[in-house]
Amino acid sequence: MKSLKKTTKQMSNVAETVLEINLDHLTHNFKYLKGKIGSTVKLLAVVKASGYGSDASVIANQLQKIGVDYFAVAYASEGIALRKSGITIPILVLHPQPVNFQELIKYTLEPSIYSFRVLRLFIDIATSTNQTNYPVHLKFNTGLHRIGFEKSDLEKISDDLNHTKSVKVASVLSHLAASEDHAEREFTVQQIDLFKKITDTLADKIGYMPIRHQSNTSAIFNYPEAHFDMVRTGIGLYGYGNDTSYDQFLKPVASLKSIISQIHELASGDSLGYNRAFIASKHTKTATIPIGHADGISRQYGNKNGFVTIQNKRAYIIGNVCMDMIMVDVTDIDCQEGDEVIIFDGNYSAAQVAEYTGTISYELLTAIAPRVKRQVIGKY
Ligand SMILES: *Cc1c(COP(=O)(O)O)cnc(C)c1O
Repeated sequence: MKSLKKTTKQMSNVAETVLEINLDHLTHNFKYLKGKIGSTVKLLAVVKASGYGSDASVIANQLQKIGVDYFAVAYASEGIALRKSGITIPILVLHPQPVNFQELIKYTLEPSIYSFRVLRLFIDIATSTNQTNYPVHLKFNTGLHRIGFEKSDLEKISDDLNHTKSVKVASVLSHLAASEDHAEREFTVQQIDLFKKITDTLADKIGYMPIRHQSNTSAIFNYPEAHFDMVRTGIGLYGYGNDTSYDQFLKPVASLKSIISQIHELASGDSLGYNRAFIASKHTKTATIPIGHADGISRQYGNKNGFVTIQNKRAYIIGNVCMDMIMVDVTDIDCQEGDEVIIFDGNYSAAQVAEYTGTISYELLTAIAPRVKRQVIGKY
């Protein structure tokens, strides 16, 4: 009787592989992060990479409704998709290419300008399409050496800007290299100091101070002095603080769940999966689960490098990860076909699962393939 009840409950929970998106958790994280910044500091939500693997349109529409100030995406195509899904507030495109500029303007997307090539090509297009004060964002390198202008470029940038009315600097930004790493505090403080100098000099030269922003999620927690006029938060909104002591205040938005399709009993000597990568050394009970590397469970998780949770117990992935399936060892777990399988959720977080396999929550979350059904729960 007891086990029948348990099975019924679990079977009604999840019927196939789903990524559950919890909007109540998103709202909680948004309010929590707002509380960490000053009341005059704006909050920009980073919704690139399908909202960190969830659903950018669902996430952005909820955040727009509850009062976020700005959005950022990486590529122009992501911004266009947001506009088509009803987003009307400003969208910053962090890493656009000149080939996208015409479309950026068509969809009122705001480019991050990171080099002279990009600045001049954007001014040309803004001018030829008769724009005035089109909002652009100047990206400066303060130590990450990824994209951005240098402090020594300020003179020339200001010259270019003072010779056009087509564009106006809406914001100045820079990105920290190691804001989650307490051992790199000295380096980070240097980045913050350099950013202050850059923004002060720029304001002097162009005659106004644009919005300044340098902090990602970890800097919201670790460097209040880097909040400036706006912060950019991605992973924090999705429920992770890059530190277990911060994770406790946040609630994971995405839960990846599946179901046991079939249970097999292997005898000693039986092999399992492609290339016979697992050979049973004793009687082994295995569960086959409909999720594979084409769903975002990388092959690196195979051969006991990764695990799922069944009946609150760890079940290690054995053999190679297939395209559409994994097999896990459930020899010591009292489970049945149809039972729920947790890949990650609020209790068994993506940060823990990722750390176990040598990666980070960002990669695990953003790898979840579009074919995995998204199921939105909570209040819109
Ligand atoms: C992705 C990204 C962010 C968000 O970082 P989190 O650590 O997820 O908060 C912020 N700024 C830039 C420039 C980014 O590329």
